[in-house]
Amino acid sequence: MIAQPKASHFVDGSYLEDKAGAPIEVIYPATGEVIAVVHEATPAVVEAALASATRAQGAWAAMRPVDRARILRRAADLIRERNQDLARLETLDTGKPLQETLVADWPSGADALEYFAGLAPTVTGETIPLGRDFVYTIREALGVCVGIGAWNYPSQIACWKSAPALALGNAMVFKPSEVTPLGALKLAEIFTEAGLPAGLFNVVQGRGSVGGALVTDPRVAKVSLTGSVPTGQKVYAAAAAGVRHVTMELGGKSPILVFDDASVEDAVGAAMLGNFYSAGQVCSNGTRVFVQKGIKAAFLKRLAERSAAIVMGDPLNEATQMGPLVSASQRAKVLAYIETAKSEGATLITGGGQAGQGGCFVQPTVFADVTDGMTIAREEVFGPVMAVLDFDTEDEAIARANATEFGLAAGVFTADLTRAHRVIAALQAGTCWINAYNLTPVEAPFGGVKSSGVGRENGHAAVAHYTQVKSVYVGMGPVDAPY
Ligand code: NDP
Repeated sequence: MIAQPKASHFVDGSYLEDKAGAPIEVIYPATGEVIAVVHEATPAVVEAALASATRAQGAWAAMRPVDRARILRRAADLIRERNQDLARLETLDTGKPLQETLVADWPSGADALEYFAGLAPTVTGETIPLGRDFVYTIREALGVCVGIGAWNYPSQIACWKSAPALALGNAMVFKPSEVTPLGALKLAEIFTEAGLPAGLFNVVQGRGSVGGALVTDPRVAKVSLTGSVPTGQKVYAAAAAGVRHVTMELGGKSPILVFDDASVEDAVGAAMLGNFYSAGQVCSNGTRVFVQKGIKAAFLKRLAERSAAIVMGDPLNEATQMGPLVSASQRAKVLAYIETAKSEGATLITGGGQAGQGGCFVQPTVFADVTDGMTIAREEVFGPVMAVLDFDTEDEAIARANATEFGLAAGVFTADLTRAHRVIAALQAGTCWINAYNLTPVEAPFGGVKSSGVGRENGHAAVAHYTQVKSVYVGMGPVDAPY
């Protein structure tokens, strides 16, 4: 299987190669096969990307928003027309099953392009009357934005960042994770075909050092990172040196609270979605499932039955429900967490090891009787490993759910809607669900509190993170100077 792109980078409207950069092998995690090789961006490639973005951005920002929007909508149409091929490429890049990539990855990217294309022309300033004089405000583009992506939703992340950035008049230089470099190049190709002027969306490959070079460049106005908390801390600090805008979409250890009166089927289904979709490699996953003691037995029984029936295997077979993890190192990390959970005394309900012959597969795994101090209750595993914890009272569950540095997401399952809203109000999380989990429509702001992030992607909220306000005082009479 070969998925070799035309070149490693996409700069100033076309593919660009510079083999002087260190090679990065792209591995299909279902088989371990090398499907492509790209080269890390050299300083010359980084410079070309930043220079072209800087050059192109001014004229783009000066265009009518409806004219920018038309190009983004065309890109969304091309994505939808080519979804089958794009989904296959996403599956090769990440190992996620086609069953998911066909409906979740590029389609949600296209949603973002359509949404921000519609929203951008409605963004206006305000007029503030001051008697004779007045002030008006303009929402201006920030300039050149850097996007840095994680490997779990590489194409969705590239779209979620570029759609608001471009719709609102910015240029973007995007660095995908070195583990999944292919989708963003396709996005650049599609933008160009849709009529995006050269230089407005550039893709440069590389590891953290390339990201570091982008983040510290004086031409960059904003950095939007999706990644882990430790990387977020480094990138945020680097951006602070230049007082740049940031959006930080970081990790989580999110709670799902299941009360005795909840629907067992719905709570089990949501907990599975929130731990096993994308083989558990989702930042907002509800990896601490707090189950009230009265419903625990019924919950665990259905959870074990439904988890054992998950179809694992060839991600290119549309019947497959769970594929491998993204890489051998991620599998090793997840298996180590599973062993630690066993040794710390959690009760293994199902799964608990690697699966299949070769490939980076890990069984869907459920631990019960997990306590707050155990490693799997505290650290982000980023694999198909669910921790079920017991609780007695609402106050206790809220306090324990909040006792973490993270605050990305949270969910509540109960038939009592008064309680649902009361509990959600008390939970420290940026993105919450009541009787649902992990649905992230582009219309809803997405992001975290505490160590899980700064800023929001999607929804109207994203406008504030890709624009800045210019305030203009207009004097209508003689200047009243005391000198
Ligand atoms: P990492 O934090 O390892 O990497 C994120 C990106 O940052 C990668 O492109 C990485 O490059 C780059 N990078 C690393 N170091 C630096 C640096 N010093 N300066 C600039 N860029 C740098 O995350 P993963 O790719 O492992 O993704 C998993 C993490 O992402 C999880 O913690 C998950 O929770 C989080 N995540 C958060 C989401 C959210 O929206 N809140 C959504 C999805 C994932 P390279 O990979 O080449 O080293």
